[in-house]
Amino acid sequence: MIKKTVAVFPGDDASPEVMLPTVALLEKLQLPIEFVYPMVGDAALSEHGARFPDASKAQVDEADATFFGSTSGQSTEALFYLRWGKQTYANVRPCQFRPGYRSPMANPDNIDFVVVRENLEDLYLGLEGNLEDLAPLNLYSKHAKAAVKDMGLGRYAIKVITESGSERVIRFAFELARKRGGQRKVTLTSKYNMLAKADGYFRDIGYAIAKEYPDIRFETFIVDDFLCRMITNPCALDVVVMPNLYGDIMSDGAAGLIGGLGLAPSGCYGADYAYFESAHGTAPDIQGQNIINPTATVLSACMMLSYLGLADAADTIDDAGISSLYAAGQCIPIDQGGSAKTDEFFHALDAALGLA
Ligand code: ATP
Repeated sequence: MIKKTVAVFPGDDASPEVMLPTVALLEKLQLPIEFVYPMVGDAALSEHGARFPDASKAQVDEADATFFGSTSGQSTEALFYLRWGKQTYANVRPCQFRPGYRSPMANPDNIDFVVVRENLEDLYLGLEGNLEDLAPLNLYSKHAKAAVKDMGLGRYAIKVITESGSERVIRFAFELARKRGGQRKVTLTSKYNMLAKADGYFRDIGYAIAKEYPDIRFETFIVDDFLCRMITNPCALDVVVMPNLYGDIMSDGAAGLIGGLGLAPSGCYGADYAYFESAHGTAPDIQGQNIINPTATVLSACMMLSYLGLADAADTIDDAGISSLYAAGQCIPIDQGGSAKTDEFFHALDAALGLA
């Protein structure tokens, strides 16, 4: 089998505590993967004069995928490149309960849906500024019945919903619903009542794309209604697609349904590149305590293996490793109500996979 290359960014704060042992686990499995570590942040600045130098960018470009540890600054430029430079427009965040997870739900067994979050536009383009800069545009709020120039001091942020950006992520959601072969349903959500022009556009595009997929059911809910439904009846969901900000928030909520952020993997897919990163951040409050739950990172690695054509290895790590450890209830991480430290969980994973 042709060897793949994966660029690894161990990340900041508590991230390396789960990233590096996860890479070590993949290495022990002797998969046809070479791992490279592009230099970023302060180290790159002092050695190459840039926080994300061209040589690091080239390593990302040459790699088949990137495995990214959450950042609180050191690798932010690399992250922006992975998103906008590589056009990874679909952030896929599965929400699947496994027995042993500490879900707050009474009946979590059949929770198994995927949030597909648009990853490149909406309010995340960094188009912010002072209100006074908008004065020359003579903007008038029909809702507030007030001119922007009369609103006094303040700030603004621009929300952008494009035709092509919406089409591609919604189409991605339909394709995923087909591939999953589950309920064969796509749920689209946005605030299309209040934000009729922008979020309404996202929904209109959803209806247009839905016509291309007569075998997939399609439904839409306003995002506040959707949140209530996600909490009260999560088992009714299959694939859910939404603009960036809602996806950011709803996917953390979705993680809460199954037991928390320590369990939530994530992958960001473009037309010809993908990177993988836990849905959670750098967990700075628990850095250095050996208590960060590795599950989200290991499952993100499984998503990466599937993307690289190594689905069998991904299934083995999930079934014989993660899922069986939780089902056995023997080595449960602290955030899930157990007492297993981070390194103990990795040792148990090794043992379960016959690598100890
Ligand atoms: P960011 O802005 O980078 O998302 P944050 O601090 O806002 O960072 P997280 O890093 O996601 O958000 O952490 C939110 C909370 O969840 C923190 O209390 C953190 O310790 C906890 N948490 C996040 N990931 C894990 C994990 N894998 N295991 C245990 N607790 C976690």
